[in-house]
Amino acid sequence: MGTVVHWQQLSPILSIFRLMPEDGSPFPGYKAGQYIALRRDDCRLTKRTIGEDGKPRYVPDLDEERNRKVGPVTHSYSISSAPFETERNRWLEFYVVLEEGQSGEPGRLTESLFRIHPGEDDKVGYVDRIAGDFTLDKRADGARNVVMVGTGTGLAPFAGMAKQLDHDASQGRRDDKRYTLFHANRSRAELAYHEDLLAIEAAGRFDFVYVPSVSRPTAQDRQEPRLGTGRGNNVLRYVFGMVGVAYASVPLYRMFCQLTGFAGTPQIAAGAQAPGAVGRTISIRFDGNVDPHLPWTFRPEQPHITIPIGERSIAFYDARNASGVPVTGQAVFNVTPAQAGRYFTKIQCFCFTEQTLQPFQDVRMPVTFYVDPAILNDPDARDISEITLSYTFYKVDRRASAR
Ligand SMILES: Cc1cc2nc3c(=O)[nH]c(=O)nc-3n(C[C@H](O)[C@H](O)[C@H](O)COP(=O)(O)OP(=O)(O)OC[C@H]3O[C@@H](n4cnc5c(N)ncnc54)[C@H](O)[C@@H]3O)c2cc1C
Repeated sequence: MGTVVHWQQLSPILSIFRLMPEDGSPFPGYKAGQYIALRRDDCRLTKRTIGEDGKPRYVPDLDEERNRKVGPVTHSYSISSAPFETERNRWLEFYVVLEEGQSGEPGRLTESLFRIHPGEDDKVGYVDRIAGDFTLDKRADGARNVVMVGTGTGLAPFAGMAKQLDHDASQGRRDDKRYTLFHANRSRAELAYHEDLLAIEAAGRFDFVYVPSVSRPTAQDRQEPRLGTGRGNNVLRYVFGMVGVAYASVPLYRMFCQLTGFAGTPQIAAGAQAPGAVGRTISIRFDGNVDPHLPWTFRPEQPHITIPIGERSIAFYDARNASGVPVTGQAVFNVTPAQAGRYFTKIQCFCFTEQTLQPFQDVRMPVTFYVDPAILNDPDARDISEITLSYTFYKVDRRASAR
């Protein structure tokens, strides 16, 4: 059980806190970008029900006297401190948002976390293991340019990376990569680590450009020359538009996430080998959608399949151009539940490139993928029994691309 020694409330729903390990046992070593599982024992529990629309819903779980049931909940959290900070100070730092469920109900664990008062109610359990491959050596190996996009608490792993890169550079350990960090949130107060990141950029110890932006700027924010305004995806749209890869109707942010493997988006391992079956199966459900601007039909050949975790699998979608002219489309994909995204790995996919269909042409589009056995070690994801892979095809507008 760890102790919270510092709690900084950035807004009613955003906080940074520091957790000290149990006496005499330091946290395991880690790399910037990794995560650890945290637990509170007094969480207000929910239970799963099926709504009238046939979709699952989580509602307060009540006992026979209609009191809210209370119990432990464990979830993973990215570590926003840098490894050198933990070596020096022993604590781990986290950047958390108070979750809001479908009905406005606060999330079970974060509601409990937001009741923390250092010195009073300050205990947080943790799994004594730090994991995850969202690290620079795994994600940016061999890259010359590294673009990081952190919206909301998605900044947490990048904060740790930027601080560690700066520290390493101050010790003479510098690589030749160029790092760009896009950071967006609603308000200046919610732009966590803003001052630290500005200072790191100003120090110039490594090649780092910091691009902050707020979507609800105050008059004062508008005076700050280094603060952009606009939502994260609009900032990206602007930047990407400038370099000429704008798609008229493809949501750029999602495409960007897919290209970079950012946050919970599924992973791409083009040409990679699957690790091999590990003796557990999982059900995969397929979904296909078409943006109204694209005159195609597009649907999965099979609604769902059950596959061995770790084994390479293939599924097919059928697409047809229902118009009399050639049309180019680009698919964006999404995996639910979000926790499964990082373990759903695509080896080959029609979504990696644009697809052009000739007038009235029918094509069969394969996707080859595997579910990473690491899912079984993740307390947040190991009980997932079904993953939904959903694609939406958008029309690629050549005029916009050429701008
Ligand atoms: C690798 C990783 C890193 C992460 N890093 C961060 C981070 O740095 N900062 C951060 O704020 N968050 C982070 N998260 C998200 C975090 O793990 C939690 O999912 C989040 O804090 C919500 O927890 P909660 O208990 O408050 O919400 P929950 O109560 O779990 O509610 C979240 C959603 O889960 C569903 N749900 C509700 N009740 C149940 C139930 N009984 N069973 C199953 N599902 C239910 C609902 O759809 C609800 O909308 C990370 C997640 C992962 C996987």
